Amino acid sequence: MFGLGEKNIGIDLGTANTIVYVDGKGIVLREPSVVAKGTKDGEIIAVGEEARAMIGRTPGSIQAVRPMKDGVIADYDTTVAMMKYFIEKALGHTSGKPYVMVCVPTGITAVEKRAVIDATRVAGARDAYVIEEPFAAAIGAGLPVMDPTGSMVVDIGGGTTDVATISLGGIVSSRSVRMAGDKLNDSIIGYVRQKYNLLIGERTAEQLKWDIGSASAEAAKELSPVAIRGRDLVSGLPTTVEVTGSDVNSAIAESVEEIIETVKETLEETSPEIAADVIDHGIVLTGGGALLKNLSEVIAEETQVPVTIANDPLDCVAVGTGESLKNINVIKKK
Ligand code: ADP
Ligand code: MG
Repeated sequence: MFGLGEKNIGIDLGTANTIVYVDGKGIVLREPSVVAKGTKDGEIIAVGEEARAMIGRTPGSIQAVRPMKDGVIADYDTTVAMMKYFIEKALGHTSGKPYVMVCVPTGITAVEKRAVIDATRVAGARDAYVIEEPFAAAIGAGLPVMDPTGSMVVDIGGGTTDVATISLGGIVSSRSVRMAGDKLNDSIIGYVRQKYNLLIGERTAEQLKWDIGSASAEAAKELSPVAIRGRDLVSGLPTTVEVTGSDVNSAIAESVEEIIETVKETLEETSPEIAADVIDHGIVLTGGGALLKNLSEVIAEETQVPVTIANDPLDCVAVGTGESLKNINVIKKK
């Protein structure tokens, strides 16, 4: 047992967003996983929301980086600096180091997992533990993970889509593909460049995805076009173009199909008992990608299994990671 005043925190260290859960308080911080650094000396200039506002707008002396890529640490030192900032911000000026639970994608290597644990310790944890992301997502989505019944969760984040079936407190089968929100943004940038000769940034692409991105070609036709600004590739000058819902749907269709194929493949390799449970209870979507318009309907149509979106899909992994802190004593003994 931990003494009074000792803090336990759960961190969802995502490719796109970092969310911190403090035991007894719930979610206290949600910020983009972005760090702005000086290009010369690597000095940290801003972290989180403030750093994200700088993406694509930095002068030569500043660089905005995302230290997590495809769900794993791509830049160790920057990740440590970012976590240190978030842990301090989440806990305020309390004394004592926290025990920290961090989620990791399934299928990462032992070295990648080790790096997460080390980074968390260096960032100020008394000790660090990891939980598999889809498992945390399922807990956060309120699925009966401990029961002898199969559940399926599909977590669509920035870097990866993780699909897993869970029963009796463990992951039965899982798949992780490096196809998620970031790739959808890239596809939109590529499409707009090709069709309109217009160069747009990551933030504009993301805005298009949120506003008029739909997984359904039919539904996309009903969405009102959006005027966006970018640089004309021919004249080199800033210009405005109207992009339609159908444009965005065409841009992302192939990527969306890959996500759906991953769900199908995971279903196919599931035991008949668990598949039957999933057909009964449905598939639950978590992560920011779950908010893509009509995605749940399209997955349901293609898999013939009911699909629901978890409440607050962006928070599920953090909530599940935080709730699993209750078992930290059990986990510590492992
Ligand atoms: P991660 O766990 O990798 O940090 P998140 O679960 O926080 O990822 O989800 C971030 C992703 O969700 C981003 O790619 C973002 O663009 C996407 N996203 C957030 N809101 C929406 C929305 N309304 N429609 C489509 N995608 C969204
Ligand atoms: Mg995530």
